[in-house]
Amino acid sequence: STGSSPYNRIILKLSGESFAPSGQRGISMTEVVDIASQTVRAAQQGVEIGIVIGGGNILRGAQFTAGANSIQEATAHYMGMLATVINGLALQDALESLGAATRLMTAIKMDGVAEPFIRRRAKRHLEKGRIVIFAAGTGAPFVTTDTAAAQKALELECDILMKATRVDGVYSDDPETNPNAVLYEELTYQQVREQELRVMDSTAIAHCMEHDLPILVFNYRRDGNIERAVRGEPIGTRVIS
Ligand code: UDP
Repeated sequence: STGSSPYNRIILKLSGESFAPSGQRGISMTEVVDIASQTVRAAQQGVEIGIVIGGGNILRGAQFTAGANSIQEATAHYMGMLATVINGLALQDALESLGAATRLMTAIKMDGVAEPFIRRRAKRHLEKGRIVIFAAGTGAPFVTTDTAAAQKALELECDILMKATRVDGVYSDDPETNPNAVLYEELTYQQVREQELRVMDSTAIAHCMEHDLPILVFNYRRDGNIERAVRGEPIGTRVIS
């Protein structure tokens, strides 16, 4: 450990899309190993890392039910939570193949696959320097893994919630369609809410705002950015009070 992070403990939120090549679905181990290797290098900065993993590369509850009356929305959300477990298993092996010590914990009990999430045990793993992957979101339907990430960051007393995305941070408009969209370096929670900026889902923002938990939104597709983020380098967009 080089101890060059200003943070003691962080939550890294990885979307399911980071597990598939751009615009594709499913899991590509090339992509998973790529993000795992960035994460391992970040952990070598001496910061404790918990990862909340999404499932959007496989299934998102809200999208899956659109136009379908043969499935209840809650069911689809549980399917989405299980998708995050599939991703978690892939990420765990990728991290281990790079020599990292890891644990996979799930919010839905799944004996034989992963440990159940127990807060004190999770903390202990983190203190021992293990990269802990949190899967199955909150264990409850109708929210997303952004909310799970905010909750985990709060209950595990993390210093910051880092959300890895495909773009450089939060923009005034969609940078993929509007070339004049401006990238913000810093925003307040209030600005995010009032301008309905797409940072994280609203429940997640509310949690962070209520407890003054800083959020960093940054681009994981620039190699080394996870490391830069944990070193506190000025990348992405910071959301603070
Ligand atoms: N989900 C849920 N409760 C949770 C977390 C996730 O019901 O606490 C479901 C929800 O349907 C969500 C899906 O799991 O769409 C996959 O998670 P998410 O959309 O957050 O994945 P990401 O966009 O980060 O890849």
